[in-house]
Amino acid sequence: MDKSSINNALKQADKAFKTYRFTTGKQRATFLKAIGEEIMALGDALIETTSRETNLPTARLVGERGRTILQLTQFANFVEEGSWVDAIIDTAQPDRQPLPKVDIRKMNVPLGTVAVFGSSNFPFAYSTAGGDTASALATGCPVIVKGHPAHAETSRMVASAILKAAKRTGMPEGVFAHIEGGIEEGVYVVKHPTVKAVGFTGSLVGGKALFDIANKRKVPIPVFAEMGSTNPVFLFENALTLRGSAMATQLADSATLGVGQFCTKPGLMIGVDSPALDGFINNLRNNMAAKTAAPLLHQGIANNFKKGLQNIENQHITEFKTFAKSDKPIDGVPSMGITTGQAFLKNKALHQEVFGPFALVIKCKDKAEMKRVADSLEGQLTSSLMAEPEDIKKNKDLLAIISDKCGRFILNGVPTGVEVTDAMQHGGPYPASTDSRYSSVSVDAVYRWVRPLSYQSFSNDILPNELKNENPLSILRRVNGVLTKEKV
Ligand code: NAP
Repeated sequence: MDKSSINNALKQADKAFKTYRFTTGKQRATFLKAIGEEIMALGDALIETTSRETNLPTARLVGERGRTILQLTQFANFVEEGSWVDAIIDTAQPDRQPLPKVDIRKMNVPLGTVAVFGSSNFPFAYSTAGGDTASALATGCPVIVKGHPAHAETSRMVASAILKAAKRTGMPEGVFAHIEGGIEEGVYVVKHPTVKAVGFTGSLVGGKALFDIANKRKVPIPVFAEMGSTNPVFLFENALTLRGSAMATQLADSATLGVGQFCTKPGLMIGVDSPALDGFINNLRNNMAAKTAAPLLHQGIANNFKKGLQNIENQHITEFKTFAKSDKPIDGVPSMGITTGQAFLKNKALHQEVFGPFALVIKCKDKAEMKRVADSLEGQLTSSLMAEPEDIKKNKDLLAIISDKCGRFILNGVPTGVEVTDAMQHGGPYPASTDSRYSSVSVDAVYRWVRPLSYQSFSNDILPNELKNENPLSILRRVNGVLTKEKV
């Protein structure tokens, strides 16, 4: 896409911000819900296009479209209710000694234009109308999406639905724009002075590159990048003995779900060497061997998967196996590896995400080595424990190490399947994401696109409605230290 069209879209977005920021929560909620309606109105044509572009099955795409509409609705309801602005009011004390105290009132305000980059593995939920776009529009920020080339037509169709919804609900022109292109166009957008924040979902290489560019700008801006993860699963003694076989089935299913193309795929399984761990490994091997090869999202992902497997094989680990051989270059073949704790500790190449149906089992010689392995891990989206109550009691130190590394800590479950709910944390210490304090899933995702603004000594009539004495929006506020919906 040529630079003048991008410049024009960014200029329009900046202009739109001047009015869009002052729309009410109710108006933005209507807009977000209309986006959902317009996406549904695209009907089967959208699902067929996306399936053709991504190799993802229809049922999965229908489910993901439903999740995307749910996200839009949740953000709509959240901003319509209004308390999300976190209004804080500290009233004046003119008689305070030795000096009078002024009236100060604070609330969240939108940052400005947000640039969004989606990932190829979630063509709806983490793409054009995905969580980043929905949460930014919800707060009053215009959005410019750089469409993912791996589902270019899908992105165009969804963008047209957003533009239709904007028009239908009377949103300012330029509130949303879709640009097409590759790295050059994406970088241009991130460097543009009118862009105030970036939402990214994708690879560590891509996210880190944009993060660095944004930080080197004359005026640096925040980049909320959600990136890859190996999602370690810690297998404890009593759980292995009691239900090792069931755990192996559960984890093989999770590691190969969607041909292993989830950022929450369990890529590492860690236990202490024992007959019970060997039994688990045998069952995992049998389960992985029973899986079929299937087409990956696109040739780029397939090539990276092959490179990732080759990299693991080159490390001369204890065992490396690929199952269900296929001669189709696009196919992801289910694969697994086994290594020792000692080898894993020495070799950072084994720590990398292999995006596709692959899992690595790490056999530690004892508990102390398992602790060192946990300590050596980088930040993760999730960490899981397969543990009985006795295992939990005996491993408090190890559990503390593991919890410090992740955004979501799971007991006796698999990490795939991210519930879209208010208490969800999707984001973890770097490199899982660039800022572990925020989540890209759940209504809390809005807090990435706002900043607090204090109003000092403003008279009631000129304050925003959220901060007026009479609380016309009936929102929950902290007034002189007390959470209340009462007027001041
Ligand atoms: P990707 O290759 O990083 O692409 C994501 C987007 O970023 C694309 O639009 C891409 O544009 C752009 N991009 C990549 N590198 C760039 C660079 N250096 N400069 C500017 N733009 C750049 O990721 P993907 O292959 O689509 O997705 C798979 C990865 O996403 C996996 O690692 C997976 O774990 C991760 N993921 C994470 C989450 C999460 O929530 N944490 C969710 C889903 C997926 P071009 O294609 O034009 O280069």
